[in-house]
Amino acid sequence: MESLTFKELCLSKDMYKAIEDLGYEEPTPIQAQSIPFILEGRDVIGQAQTGTGKTAAFGIPAIEMLNPDINKVQVIILCPTRELANQVAEELSKLSKYQKTKILPIYGGRPIERQIKALRRGVHIVVGTPGRVMDHIERKTLRLDGVEMVVLDEADEMLDMGFREDIELILDQVPENRQTILFSATMPKPILRLTKRYQRNPQMVKTVHKKLTVPLVEQFYFEVKSHLKTEVLCRLIDIYNVKSSLVFCNTKKQVDQLTETMRSRGYLVDALHGDLKQRQRDKVMSSFRDGDIETLIATDVAARGIDVENIEVVFNYDIPQDEESYIHRIGRTGRAGRGGTAFTFASGKDIRKIKSIQKHTGAKIIRKNIPSQSDVEDIRAEMLSQRVKDTIDAGHMGKYIHWVENLLEEDYASVDIGAALVKIVLADVKK
Ligand code: AMP
Repeated sequence: MESLTFKELCLSKDMYKAIEDLGYEEPTPIQAQSIPFILEGRDVIGQAQTGTGKTAAFGIPAIEMLNPDINKVQVIILCPTRELANQVAEELSKLSKYQKTKILPIYGGRPIERQIKALRRGVHIVVGTPGRVMDHIERKTLRLDGVEMVVLDEADEMLDMGFREDIELILDQVPENRQTILFSATMPKPILRLTKRYQRNPQMVKTVHKKLTVPLVEQFYFEVKSHLKTEVLCRLIDIYNVKSSLVFCNTKKQVDQLTETMRSRGYLVDALHGDLKQRQRDKVMSSFRDGDIETLIATDVAARGIDVENIEVVFNYDIPQDEESYIHRIGRTGRAGRGGTAFTFASGKDIRKIKSIQKHTGAKIIRKNIPSQSDVEDIRAEMLSQRVKDTIDAGHMGKYIHWVENLLEEDYASVDIGAALVKIVLADVKK
């Protein structure tokens, strides 16, 4: 089910094109599971958190199912906050880029007259907070006779915020033969009561938490604002002198953009995503294996088939959609006998996702500060001591021991010899 493609979902050409433009490569698990049921006309309960792709999970079928030639509100999406209403409306606009769908966010704090005017002109999808939607229903500025689908987004949040009454009033008034979709991160009793009362034979979908084995990888995350991610990525590659890394982005578009930026900055990078022909992929992969490319920037789908050893660091440039992809991604790193390193970039809401990944997998993801240029020498010295220890452990040093013994005979102290070697090596790295 999870490897279903967007093509297999039988979407319209216009929708498929919009999804391509967004750079989504394949449906997220919650999308793969819920879209077919919603398209069939079933009521759906989706247990999914933010970041799982839930907006498109109901947004894609909602847009596909409505009739843009009928100038009536056909879909009502209820959200707990104005921010979410705006975000949802924005994502739906992108998904309906090639269609005539009219979408209107409505929430309190905005002049109601302007919303009334927009509603009068004709809207297909209303995305709003329950209070303001109720206002419009009472004023009869929002007519419900054409409503075919109601979506409750983040239902648990809406109940926590005291919207239960408004939600019930709205659901009591929309035509009974409508489809009711409910998404919620948690399923407490009040939510179950709501589904029992307002949904008909609902299909439950959720992203199952499989038992996952966390690979032996040192995992860190950095809090990085989106617009600084590229800068931080370059800095980390420089500081840790990373010669072989895999960078994961969530969309093809992001992969292409990042590849271009990094290349223009002089990094040895190439892109790997589903649009590449097999021959191109093979070429990229062999350059990566040969070390002509040091950093491979990929989507999850494209990286699935690759088999490269000795990847030093996996970067999660974008935080993965679910914990399973996180585990798959970080499992790609690891050097002979030793685990590798995974660096995850997180901003804002992503932090919650890090916590959730930790909770469900038992992985330890340690917060790290973005290193400043002045941390560089410390980090390099630390890396050097690790290499020294590894080299001692590996043995075969007879010839070198002999050289050091010569210096000792000349009355140099071993600690001075060591320090001088560190100094020389670090100075060489800087050059
Ligand atoms: P949501 O859970 O709806 O808040 O979505 C989280 C993020 O995932 C949003 O930035 C979406 O644009 C993005 N997204 C949704 N579906 C996909 C997909 N199939 N592939 C990649 N990214 C997606």
